Amino acid sequence: MANSYGWKGKILRVNLTTGEIQTQSTSELAERFIGGRGFVSKIYWDEVDTKTDALHPDNPLMLITGPLAGTPAISGSRWFISGKSPLLYPKDQFGLGSVGGSMALKIKAAGFDGIIITGKSSKPVYIHINDGKVEIKDASGLWGCDIPDTRKRLSSEHGKNSQFLCIGPAGENMVRFAIAMSDNGACGGSGFGAVMGSKNLKAVVAEGSGNVAVARPDDLKEINSQVRSLIEGRILMDPNIEGIDLIKRTPCPGCPGGCARGLYKHVTGTEEVRKNCGSAYMYYLWDQKQHGGESTPNAFLATSLVDRYGLCAQEMNNLQHWLYECNVSGVITDDKAGLPISQIGTMEFIEKLVDMISFRKGFGDVLAEGTGRAAHSLGKDSVKQFDLRVTRSGFNATAYNPRFFITNSVFYATETTSTMNELHEVCFPIMKWAMWFATDGSMSPFSTEVMQKIARKFWKSEKAIDFSTYDEKAEVAYIIQNREYAKENLVVCDFMYPITTADGAEDYVGDPTIESRLLSAVTGIEFSEQDYYRTGERVFNLQRAIQGREGRVGRKDDHLNEFNFTDPFEEEPGFFAVFNPEYMLPGPGGELATRKGAVIERDKFEKMMDEYYSLRGWDVKTGLQTKEKLEALELSDIVPEMRKAGHLFE
Ligand code: SF4
Repeated sequence: MANSYGWKGKILRVNLTTGEIQTQSTSELAERFIGGRGFVSKIYWDEVDTKTDALHPDNPLMLITGPLAGTPAISGSRWFISGKSPLLYPKDQFGLGSVGGSMALKIKAAGFDGIIITGKSSKPVYIHINDGKVEIKDASGLWGCDIPDTRKRLSSEHGKNSQFLCIGPAGENMVRFAIAMSDNGACGGSGFGAVMGSKNLKAVVAEGSGNVAVARPDDLKEINSQVRSLIEGRILMDPNIEGIDLIKRTPCPGCPGGCARGLYKHVTGTEEVRKNCGSAYMYYLWDQKQHGGESTPNAFLATSLVDRYGLCAQEMNNLQHWLYECNVSGVITDDKAGLPISQIGTMEFIEKLVDMISFRKGFGDVLAEGTGRAAHSLGKDSVKQFDLRVTRSGFNATAYNPRFFITNSVFYATETTSTMNELHEVCFPIMKWAMWFATDGSMSPFSTEVMQKIARKFWKSEKAIDFSTYDEKAEVAYIIQNREYAKENLVVCDFMYPITTADGAEDYVGDPTIESRLLSAVTGIEFSEQDYYRTGERVFNLQRAIQGREGRVGRKDDHLNEFNFTDPFEEEPGFFAVFNPEYMLPGPGGELATRKGAVIERDKFEKMMDEYYSLRGWDVKTGLQTKEKLEALELSDIVPEMRKAGHLFE
């Protein structure tokens, strides 16, 4: 595969123990794994020992872009931070976080497809790359600074043509859910801020003047213009937080605005970038709960606080739910925690919590280990509360609830990393349908009939949106996982692709071929839609092999939290509670059906999983991968190790 278009052709490697700087060619990697999620999965498989802890110097911190970054391809500027995650539970394992902003463009402009950092510096440092030149610089003066202060200082040192990734006090103190923050409020989860801290790495600064060559610029222009016309008229919903005014939209570079990312000014005078996603609502419900259902500035200010110290808002959400329930059931008292848990929703509480965790003070040292580890260290009553809220791997187990959307149960059962983009592919279109349903079509044109057409085009059959049945959901899940992994190889934005619901199209139906055409236009290598999905299936299978190596082997470990089978579904706070409080969904033949009161039926779930393993080409009884399937996906090189480990069905 030629590397002259899309890819820069090399990855930078920096060893912070020895100061050694090398490069590695990406041409072989690009051939099978494209970029982004594909690159990090393959490098991880090749290099990371099962015994290496996430916070050990040998753990490679990978900052990896895809072939579209740095080109005019719309929403192609995302990238991945990856390696062994210190947050995942029960032990450190492969993890990754998707990051927006302009860092990917700067890495490419500096001449690289990505950066891999190993080792540990003896003193605080940051890495500066500029047009192929690499320096490891002293960061003693930055150590201890919060994220806005760090960014300000780096900006004054390196100017506005540079971009940064940096950590705050939480990362320095190796809080297992510390984030690394880039521009535009863009960060990746899974604790890689702690990995940076473990290496004494305060920041990475990238700048450069290089371009990324595009093989077929006219084709790219045409696809971009199609994307613009498909999303024309799309309603951007600003975060539903009282007291904020949009100052300006702040999209990622080259994005016409697939989401409502913007700079907002709060009545308190604070200005912050936000988009309409979970982190914006980290404190929203707690604030209302504490203030008799009314909102105060706390919701907005609390997210700013965790961003400033460099904590993951998603994990803070899990942690707060678990802490609250443990407090209510008497497992953790205010006295024992040294925290006013009963005052959750106040600024006093969140300020104390953030301080205790970021600096590992008192009980904060236990919480800094993440909800999973904290819960298990405190005994079975606290684990019970954890299981009601968080997956075994440490992610919110109730988002886009599987009892509400049956398809999502497959994602929850088979993934060890965040399933969010897969959940979005199922639920974003249904949110638009729910608006149509709730407003008699006045706020949304996405009727049941339109949804059925979308289902036939994207998920093979209109049965995909009959949420009353388990029929064909295994195949929908299979299609979605492959497409979503392919998307993360590119890497394009989850808020933009796939364009299923097209406000600007005459029939409102989007186009599933866009991403494969973008890849072909940029690289000059022809990828059909199916070729493109195959790259996703390949990486999904590679990740399954990684999971097995890290102790999660086959069907017996494909786990759905027990509450899904036992506790009837009552509510999903947020969008659906507002627009669709009876939790209606399209049912058989487009008739309405409610999922209120529903559970996942165990026998039907198991039958659906039988179908799923069969579609994947894995052994149905054990969920183990087969040599034939791996070979068909051009993954023969991983077969010997899997065979030796007994993780192959033969
Ligand atoms: S849709 Fe939003 S997050 Fe995605 S690339 Fe555009 S601005 Fe960035």
